[in-house]
Amino acid sequence: MSDRLPGFATLAVHAGAQPDPTTGARATPIYQTTSFVFNDADHAASLFGLQAFGNIYTRIGNPTNAVLEERVAALEGGTAALAVASGHAAQVVVLQQLMQPGDEFIAARKLYGGSINQFTHAFKSFGWNVVWADPDDIASFERAVTPRTKAIFIESIANPAGSITDIEAISTVARKAGVPLIVDNTLASPYLIRPIDHGADIVVHSLTKFLGGHGNSLGGIIVDAGTFDWSAGGKYPMLSEPRPEYHGIRLQETFGNFAFAIACRVLGLRDLGPALSPFNAFMILTGIETLPLRMQKHCDNAKAVAEFLATHPAVSAVNYAGLPGDRYNALQRKYAPKGAGAVFTFSLKGGYDAGVSLVSKLQLFSHLANVGDTRSLVIHPASTTHSQLDDAAKIKSGAGPDVVRLSVGIEDKEDLIADLDQALRA
Ligand SMILES: *Cc1c(COP(=O)(O)O)cnc(C)c1O
Repeated sequence: MSDRLPGFATLAVHAGAQPDPTTGARATPIYQTTSFVFNDADHAASLFGLQAFGNIYTRIGNPTNAVLEERVAALEGGTAALAVASGHAAQVVVLQQLMQPGDEFIAARKLYGGSINQFTHAFKSFGWNVVWADPDDIASFERAVTPRTKAIFIESIANPAGSITDIEAISTVARKAGVPLIVDNTLASPYLIRPIDHGADIVVHSLTKFLGGHGNSLGGIIVDAGTFDWSAGGKYPMLSEPRPEYHGIRLQETFGNFAFAIACRVLGLRDLGPALSPFNAFMILTGIETLPLRMQKHCDNAKAVAEFLATHPAVSAVNYAGLPGDRYNALQRKYAPKGAGAVFTFSLKGGYDAGVSLVSKLQLFSHLANVGDTRSLVIHPASTTHSQLDDAAKIKSGAGPDVVRLSVGIEDKEDLIADLDQALRA
């Protein structure tokens, strides 16, 4: 055995997996079972009391999902992970461990449209109050901190314009406030950015996007960096206080640097119930094996498409952090030197009507509400994902009426450029 630590591409193929001990199957089997037989009554009791690790019921854990969890934890540099049914489920489960009714969390204003809705409406009904801050103005995060602040939530590469967030600067604010920094790393994937290396305490993903990568399976994951002291300040009773449902154990005291991942599983997933299907875990694991190859091709294609659009007479602006003149280019070179991702926006001189017309004329780009597929995708946020926002909020979140968002796929870049060219001419 060499003592070399495995590199990223090796981890993407192997982390968490080994040949099946009973059959020798080399690919990770789909353990399509709801439940698992106990060895004996003592074994059953110790599993239920959290004195032993093992499989009980697929809502709480499953061996196929466990391989996915170990693999993403390895790729992100975390201590443990928990797979759930979707990216949105990951966000609910994370915040449920941190928030009591009446508490606040600070969120960057530039977010996936669905997260803006979830935070504004659904979370409000739980008594969780979101306070918005501007990721381009670090002081706005500092000003938003109050004694009720329990977390800060940002995206590493932010929807919809692919802007790059200064994770280290915001992690300094979080540290000072004594709250964890949660980073949604969906658009970057750990191939481009590993937020834990820059001070994130928790990473969440929609596995539905680049990690799964093929537009065929929903999933989400929570990665615990193992860095946060949940007992300091008495702010996080779910982690620091005795749990009545588990014979009074304290999760941080018992599980140390993976207590947060355990809390998400045994308090969040167990009770809220958004379990990931083992079939979806299998599909996503298969996708992750080619993540480094796909992600590099996504980035290279996106850069070529952005360069083409930047010189096109129908286009008034291109927001792609990989272009030298872009306002996020310096942050991109610091945080994501391998590429600026594949999701970005551009503006049309023809405004709202030109945006609606363009999406209808493209042939290779599919008009739909998703990103991170092998296929190239397009959407006009103002008439779809961001249509609930008023005009000022649309512009603030980067989704003004003239803005079109692309998720550039892994086809031949010449074909993508030709498709855009014909649709822009029409
Ligand atoms: C899609 C997405 C989500 C939500 O994920 P689902 O799997 O659709 O629930 C959250 N954040 C970002 C950045 C996304 O792109």
